Amino acid sequence: MDLNQLKTFLDSQNLPPFRFRQIVKNYFSGRYASFDQMTDLSLDLRAKLSQNFSLLSVSETKTVGDNSVQKSLLKLSDNQSIETVLMDYEDWITACVSSQVGCALNCQFCATGKMGFKRNLTADEIVDQILFWNQKIFPQFVGRIVFMGMGEPFLNWDNLLAALEIINSPDGLNIGARKISISTAGVADKIIEFTNLDTQINLAISLHSVNQKYRESIMPIARQYNLDELKKACLYYVNHTNRQLFFEYALTDKNTSQTDAKLLANFLHSHRLFFLNLIPLNPVDGGLTPATKDQQKLFMNYLNQYGVEYSLRKSFGQSYSAACGQLATETSI
Ligand code: SAH
Repeated sequence: MDLNQLKTFLDSQNLPPFRFRQIVKNYFSGRYASFDQMTDLSLDLRAKLSQNFSLLSVSETKTVGDNSVQKSLLKLSDNQSIETVLMDYEDWITACVSSQVGCALNCQFCATGKMGFKRNLTADEIVDQILFWNQKIFPQFVGRIVFMGMGEPFLNWDNLLAALEIINSPDGLNIGARKISISTAGVADKIIEFTNLDTQINLAISLHSVNQKYRESIMPIARQYNLDELKKACLYYVNHTNRQLFFEYALTDKNTSQTDAKLLANFLHSHRLFFLNLIPLNPVDGGLTPATKDQQKLFMNYLNQYGVEYSLRKSFGQSYSAACGQLATETSI
């Protein structure tokens, strides 16, 4: 919901400022699915609010999943669709949110890339994905956010920052910076700008290869920001924040050789705060071939040999196409 519009509307009705605060509190509580349910407001005001506003800027089209992973297809006011995922298998319930409708980056392994770029999401559309889940699971609530849904968050910079402010604010969703993670395909100049924000929000970089030529072939953005430039920006981040930086590396048949392990070790050894997350590649139509279990094992042996620490991420939600890189509204659900 656009809170500025709400404020203007309430002012035009000559309502006192506390009404605004009361409605905002109700809105962020996740307790209400409609204005009608807000029985602490007069019937008349509830009716007016329902006429003039939608509580959420997104509406549920369909939800699939099970107790640990659910994915919803959400419709926006212009009839475009996005997907959002809820994961409930760790200490906190995590929402994986989209930042754009589609994506311009066209990474070869990612389903969102295949649908092209449609438009940026507004800050409200980003925040409302979380509120959507909070409403659905009330009285439970989302405690962690990852920007790993559709789109490249750093290419929707202004709306991302506006959304983060609301997510983080005690008067908004009140989710601590350390419980928020942003993943970027490597928009180097934005990594620097992000560092300069001086926040405790976590950052992850989709690396996937440290061979410049090969990386360019699977991630076209690597032509714009090459590995040297990316590494420089990453060093800037860790040196300024003193926070760990996570590198995402999806395992395929093409990036798991001994040479790849060696290149990766060199890259990661540039800083003690560089940390590797290995991800089993989720298959996508027309995408890359996942590494076999044996290839994965061998690659991890090489990494051990070169002294690289890593974690191997579990892959969830594959059967519902809810896993990383599988969020594409045209082909799934
Ligand atoms: N554009 C951002 C965020 C969206 S992708 C980025 O590139 O980081 C979120 C994460 O899913 C990234 O780490 C991305 O590299 C990973 N991913 C994309 N497709 C995948 C696939 N098919 N299998 C596994 N991980 C994938």
